Amino acid sequence: MATTLPIPDRAAVLKALDAILDPVSGQGLVAAGLVHGLALRPGRAGFMLEVPPEDAARYQPVRDAAEAALGAVDGVTQAQVVLTAASPGAPPRAPAPAAAPRTAATAPMKPAHVRQVIAVASGKGGVGKSTVAVNLAAAFAAMGYRTGVLDADVYGPSLPRMLGLGGEPKVGPDKKLIPLEAFGLKAVSIGLLVKEGAPMIWRGPMASSAITQLLNDVAWGTEDEPLDLLVIDMPPGTGDVQLTLAQRVTLDGAVIVSTPQEVALIDVRRGAAMFAKTATPILGVVENMAYFPDPTTGAPIEIFGRGGARGVAEEIGAPFLGEIPIDIALRQSGDGGTPILAAAPDGPSARVFIEIAAKVAARLKDGGLSKRPPRIVILD
Ligand code: ADP
Repeated sequence: MATTLPIPDRAAVLKALDAILDPVSGQGLVAAGLVHGLALRPGRAGFMLEVPPEDAARYQPVRDAAEAALGAVDGVTQAQVVLTAASPGAPPRAPAPAAAPRTAATAPMKPAHVRQVIAVASGKGGVGKSTVAVNLAAAFAAMGYRTGVLDADVYGPSLPRMLGLGGEPKVGPDKKLIPLEAFGLKAVSIGLLVKEGAPMIWRGPMASSAITQLLNDVAWGTEDEPLDLLVIDMPPGTGDVQLTLAQRVTLDGAVIVSTPQEVALIDVRRGAAMFAKTATPILGVVENMAYFPDPTTGAPIEIFGRGGARGVAEEIGAPFLGEIPIDIALRQSGDGGTPILAAAPDGPSARVFIEIAAKVAARLKDGGLSKRPPRIVILD
């Protein structure tokens, strides 16, 4: 069902935010210039609370209060406030900017017969975003949800490799592309439309029209059998291409993947800030390659440090979803075309993916994932 929620009233939102005081200046948050990138969408509101890095901890309760205040505004069913650190050389605080104007061409859309759409994103490449996207989707399928994966990583589509897909999707009688199927998942890759040889510089602009096409022209589900969940594997990074994609799709939420290194964790904050610009709820943060289990004792060896993603999740007010170990079986299965959920469903990584999927499903429940009893599916 398409949403018919109204767009929250901007004046009411600003008034609610200005009733919360900045502990430093004593002014309301809007007057103090702390509200950045205010985004208003049907039923949702979000913005970035930009504060000096040294004050981040102090502003945590302010963030919580602002999110509660947003959530209390008429018409807001989902509120998202991300605490971000202003860089030291940043220009003086500016007043709250206007919500980006929307035209029909850029209005976010939801594909037909798809109940929920989530994005899996990362601030940089190589952190295991696609591995998480595919295995999370496989975990949803194993839980019985009708699940699709859309590989939107225009810079390095990896879905065909990770699911062992060959061939091109066929076109159905209604002229819609029929997704490929593997391991109980419906799958389409942007690699079909943006050819491997295409120069990098073309890929960004091509991505946004390709994604619109993939959302419009793929038969993800039918009236009788809608897809419960579409997982979008986003391109890595937080630049214009990623933001445009996030703006094109009505996302029900985003999962951010990071490794424990500090540099990756800084990118988590950027990722969260990007989703705040589209008022997309952050469903949570996943720490990938969190530790290496000692081959003899199983004790965790913390190669890149550990637990940082949990701290950043807390800081940005997002749930921490789980830690995936460095797992040779996970790499081998992914690179060999089989999700770990199918290759080793009882192994440690598969168990973590199931736990993460359950947490995500619970967070989506207001939107409907848990309203239908899941079918029992055995992956093969
Ligand atoms: P991204 O999508 O972020 O670029 P990928 O999911 O393609 O990253 O992963 C990059 C490489 O790292 C792949 O070869 C993948 O199999 C491997 N990999 C990802 N996560 C893990 C993990 N937890 N343990 C071992 N290898 C992993």
